Amino acid sequence: MQETKLFSGELYNNALKQIDLAAQTMHLDPNVAGRLKYPKRTLIVSVPVRMDDGHIKVFEGYRVQHNMTLGPGKGGIRYSPLVTLSEIATFAMQMTLKCSLFQLPLGGAKGGIRCNPNRMSRGEKQRMTRRFTSEIFNLIGPDKDIPAPDIGTDEQVMAWMMDTYSQEVGFAIPGVVTGKPIEIGGSLGRRDATGRGVGYTILEAAKYLNISLDQNTTVVIQGYGQVGSAAARKMHKVGCSVIALSDENGGIYNPKGLDIEKVDAYVKEKRTLSGYPNADSINNEELLELECTILIPAAIEEQITKDNAPKLKCKMIAEAANSPTTGPADLILQDRGIFVIPDILANGGGVTVSYFEWVQGLQKFFWDEKDVNNRLFTIMANTFQKVLATQQKYKCSMRTAAYVSAMEHLSRAMLLRGFYP
Ligand code: GLU
Repeated sequence: MQETKLFSGELYNNALKQIDLAAQTMHLDPNVAGRLKYPKRTLIVSVPVRMDDGHIKVFEGYRVQHNMTLGPGKGGIRYSPLVTLSEIATFAMQMTLKCSLFQLPLGGAKGGIRCNPNRMSRGEKQRMTRRFTSEIFNLIGPDKDIPAPDIGTDEQVMAWMMDTYSQEVGFAIPGVVTGKPIEIGGSLGRRDATGRGVGYTILEAAKYLNISLDQNTTVVIQGYGQVGSAAARKMHKVGCSVIALSDENGGIYNPKGLDIEKVDAYVKEKRTLSGYPNADSINNEELLELECTILIPAAIEEQITKDNAPKLKCKMIAEAANSPTTGPADLILQDRGIFVIPDILANGGGVTVSYFEWVQGLQKFFWDEKDVNNRLFTIMANTFQKVLATQQKYKCSMRTAAYVSAMEHLSRAMLLRGFYP
């Protein structure tokens, strides 16, 4: 096989290794496994933006479509200073597997712009989003590739993308993005879907591991954005003690449990967890090593490393972020018997409700929030059980089992469609 020079780095190579491991475990046709290591299509764009001081700054943006065997490309748009082509290609690959694992009729894609959205004004972000959308216009569309929010993007960014796309076509096309505001065709329940879905997989894992979810069950969450905060609300609601939370400025810790409603009210006002009363401050590294029942990394990639994996004191990890665990750390966690709900399983609730949003939009028929959440619960619980059964069949890790499950469905579809030309 020809080596690719475009994509590199530990994150990307680790994802390739996971594909290899799953392929060996399930004795997958090497032609299919080989194909999964290359994205189908990659677009690199320059995004010139007039900044508020009048000068023009050029940002680099990407949209990578990894595999579209099962349907249109699907995946978020990330705004972060850490964005690289390899990172976006890794996540596009994982979106393919995530959509296949949940048996959604969607392929895998991802996009992003290397920028620091926290240092940009609303106007700058809007201009950047609109120019980026117009640069990737030819690739996206409700039947082609459907972006969604990811780190650094939100409902407002999706609204600007939808508007720009619609302006160029000449009429409203809500189905071009998901994670939109409700007023322009978004779905109830989408905002909290990823974090809520993380909670649903924890409920299933706890049943399997015989962990009762009560006040003695402690939860630590790294990251208090859209995903981490929704996971905290869900775990608090089911009766667990959420004892520590963090954001990029640091964390807060109270061994007796934090009142999540009060934390939410504080964050709404101050835009940070820092300074929250009735809790000690703690940094992000210390937070991961706290003794707890369930650790939820809900921030960015590569947070659990070979250095801190031996020191973690949790029974279970639910990966709300994408790729929060490095390859070497993953092996340490396995050796230590820590139960890991892998990212493509734990955080699949987001893209599942994105799929619901897309379906509701196509039918112009919208569901109430209870319907969305009930359907989400059924899909998350069934998919968890499918991965668990695969793990028991192959006696492998839950991560490999999730990959195997995803690749079983996808490879059948790829082989049925056949090879062109
Ligand atoms: N960005 C989210 C993810 O990584 C959601 C993608 C989507 O809804 O399309 O799964």
